[in-house]
Amino acid sequence: MSKTIPIMEIFGPVIQGEGHLAGRSTFFVRTGGCDYRCGWCDTKYAVTPSLVKEHATQMLPHEIYAKLLSLGARQGDCITISGGNPVMHDLSEIVDCFVGNDLVVAVETQGTLWRDWVRDCDVVNVSPKPPSSGHIITADKVIEWLDKLFEGDNVPLHTCVKIVAFDVPDYDFASRIFKAIAKWIETNWSAPWDSQFSMYLQPGSGYKDTYTTGPMSNDLMRDCIANSYRDMANLLLTDEDLRQIVRIMPQVHTMVYGDMRGV
Ligand code: SF4
Repeated sequence: MSKTIPIMEIFGPVIQGEGHLAGRSTFFVRTGGCDYRCGWCDTKYAVTPSLVKEHATQMLPHEIYAKLLSLGARQGDCITISGGNPVMHDLSEIVDCFVGNDLVVAVETQGTLWRDWVRDCDVVNVSPKPPSSGHIITADKVIEWLDKLFEGDNVPLHTCVKIVAFDVPDYDFASRIFKAIAKWIETNWSAPWDSQFSMYLQPGSGYKDTYTTGPMSNDLMRDCIANSYRDMANLLLTDEDLRQIVRIMPQVHTMVYGDMRGV
């Protein structure tokens, strides 16, 4: 029997503003709940348990699909499943429904939890969180998660690893993770960069801890992103091991719309 899923919002079409699908149109399905509490999280309404409880709509898979159709989604459109951490939930039925109806399915997760339905997605965006998030994840854990993703024959068309970095410790973390993944790919796969795998460094988009600083004006946010971009670009350009394989890309939607929702 189908189970309901806590859904914070379903919207689109919009332009994906980050990672491998940046610039492509997509619809978003945002689930509620996350096993992390990052200081600079920009979707706290989908993370903080009291907010999730208050604002989530419990939806059955066919209701989620019907909502997307009502927004105009059709064959060939991309559906991005995000959160929170969507891997908290059993989304196998809804992912099957999307795949069966010829939608392109992308998922965004920090890569801390595992469920087999992740393998059925076309594009997997995994974002290990850096020290400024308040969490620590090791390269071994990231590789363990990627090993699970690539168990068996059914693998995603594309896997994108994206790491947000605000400062030098974050960059050093990103550098360690990217290097470990590059080695893992070299050992296990013959795919050239940008076909099956890509790695993105994403300059932090504002104050490190929006829990304590409160909301930022759009102008201030844009300034912060530009400063962060310059700092991260300087570090990447002097990193001979990474500069050929890692791209740097800010959150384009945040630069354009600030923290507005549904865009
Ligand atoms: S993992 Fe993502 S959704 Fe969860 S708290 Fe961190 S930034 Fe927010």
